[in-house]
Amino acid sequence: MSQSEVVYLNGKYPPKDQASLSILDRGFLFGDGVYELIPLHNKKIFYMQHHFMRLKKSLELINIDPSIVDEINFEKIINSLTDSNGYVNHFIYIHISRGVDNSRNHIYMENTAPTVLVMGEKYQPFDIDNIIAGKSAVIEEDYRWLKSNIKSTSLLANVMLKNKANLNNSYEALLIRDGFLTEGSASNVFIVKDNIIKTPKLSNKLLPGITRKFLSDIITMHGLNFEETDISKDALLRSDEIFCSSSTNPVVPITKLDDKLISKNAGPITMKIYNHAQDFIKAL
Ligand code: PMP
Repeated sequence: MSQSEVVYLNGKYPPKDQASLSILDRGFLFGDGVYELIPLHNKKIFYMQHHFMRLKKSLELINIDPSIVDEINFEKIINSLTDSNGYVNHFIYIHISRGVDNSRNHIYMENTAPTVLVMGEKYQPFDIDNIIAGKSAVIEEDYRWLKSNIKSTSLLANVMLKNKANLNNSYEALLIRDGFLTEGSASNVFIVKDNIIKTPKLSNKLLPGITRKFLSDIITMHGLNFEETDISKDALLRSDEIFCSSSTNPVVPITKLDDKLISKNAGPITMKIYNHAQDFIKAL
């Protein structure tokens, strides 16, 4: 963080290390809020309308009026933070909580003004050597709630799962619910089998990742075989290639799953998608 880095908090632009919130903020007490993480590539807001649409949907699903997204003009705020803080290839974090109540109460008051935070973060995506070598992952039971399509700030289960993977020297936990793959603890998952790229269908059990959408656009654009379909745990283990997608690292090859070697290095189709994605981003 640079000395003078500022964030946006409820209409003001305080320094990042001085921005503060009430202890009665429902985001702090209950994780009662939603968020977005949006990449900036070469100062441009990536897949902006998709991110804003998902933010509106998340707000709607937790009964916060989504019109706040248009009223606040996040594009202007992001561009202002980008200018003030000299962001180029950063990530923008938007956090909207239900706001501050008079006391700690599960039942929320109607018409509380939401708390809105926007801040930038520097992330270092994996370099090409890491991509080619691939990462390992573990399989875990998906014990999260059944509204995983909401990009909620209540991330305790995801935090526990990701840390379990990390303790196992793994990049990600791939989650299985009722015998089928849902997603990763912080990513969507694609597999390749017999030259067909597959990813689980969208449902209440997984986040509609914007990178998932970006990669499906890339896959379609390049005429590769693609299916959104159920993937059983067995099919996952029998994959020729596996990769995870997220805004921070669009394509992360998984070469080892639990004790099973999936592929020696990142597979050819994974690398094709990785390279097409990089080319698209570089051309922005
Ligand atoms: N699933 C989960 C659970 C996530 O936390 C994320 C984002 N880290 C994703 C999928 C990928 O979403 P996106 O591509 O929009 O970053």
